[in-house]
Amino acid sequence: MDDGRTIDSEMTDGKMMDGKTIDGKTRLCGLIGNPVEHTMSPVIHNTLAGHCGHNLVYVPFLVEEGNLADAVRGAYALNVLGLNVTVPYKSAVIDSLVETDDLAARIGAVNTLVRTEGGYKGYNTDMSGLYRAMVSEGIRIEGEEIVLLGAGGAARAVAYLCGEQKAGKVWLLNRTYEKAERVAEEVNAAFGREVVVPMLLSDYEKLPERKFLAIQGTSVGLAPKEDDVVIEDAAFYRKIHTGFDLIYKPFTTRFMRLVREAGGEAYNGLKMLLYQGIIAYELWNQVEITEKEAALVYDRMKREMGIS
Ligand code: NAP
Repeated sequence: MDDGRTIDSEMTDGKMMDGKTIDGKTRLCGLIGNPVEHTMSPVIHNTLAGHCGHNLVYVPFLVEEGNLADAVRGAYALNVLGLNVTVPYKSAVIDSLVETDDLAARIGAVNTLVRTEGGYKGYNTDMSGLYRAMVSEGIRIEGEEIVLLGAGGAARAVAYLCGEQKAGKVWLLNRTYEKAERVAEEVNAAFGREVVVPMLLSDYEKLPERKFLAIQGTSVGLAPKEDDVVIEDAAFYRKIHTGFDLIYKPFTTRFMRLVREAGGEAYNGLKMLLYQGIIAYELWNQVEITEKEAALVYDRMKREMGIS
């Protein structure tokens, strides 16, 4: 009887679409979060596994509210090698871990779980991923005067990165001043000096007259609201020598366009996403991914986004 289903020959003999063989020794990694449908992480990890010849498959797991602890316990019981964690669980997951890396604990956010004896250990590879992305683009933090837009989860991690990498001063601008103030207090206490200066976003005209590295860490400008930007004023952009937007959808954000129009260089967050994945993969598999391999994965991610 024809029930309308077809058997794709590439899916037979235990083979997945990209030719990967699933067998009794296949290890599983994945992403927990809500939502997870639009994630690019499977592209990163399955490409790496294929390239490195690792018998590993990476899949997204949608975890409904209230199920986080069960999900982590269940993953451990099922011998899952490692997990990434995304919104809204990056902080809440810490309670389900046997250990948390020092820096991730200070940031208060974990995006990578590594299997250890007795449970998972948590790391924050978002921050180290951003650092590696910046290094690969030749952007330095040490000694730099930095404008950081936003004080949410991602911007908080960036503020810690700036403290750790000995930034000169970070002017932290946020719509809600209290949040900027809280991040500044925490980071300044952690590094024992006044690295972060909190400011109200609308006070951007009070920034000193000089050139900055600007990191866009708000969610403004994220697709589908691609025409939005936190600050419109061209005078602000004339103060930026390099702009780094954590957003990667769209590939060229309005913030990036405004930086370039004012004569600066601008980058998006796709390489940050790439490197946070690579660092997680390295932690799970105890391997070192080369820059050549990273470039291969990056090309695959761009193709996935329809960017040639
Ligand atoms: P979040 O915790 O929700 O923080 C959102 C931030 O945006 C807050 O500072 C918020 O200000 C600000 N904001 C939101 N709407 C605003 C508006 N209309 N005007 C001014 N400010 C506004 O989000 P998050 O997790 O930090 O993520 C921020 C961005 O980073 C997202 O776009 C995310 O996609 C990106 N990201 C990228 C990567 C990567 O790998 N490339 C990794 C992580 C995050 P208030 O405090 O005033 O609300």
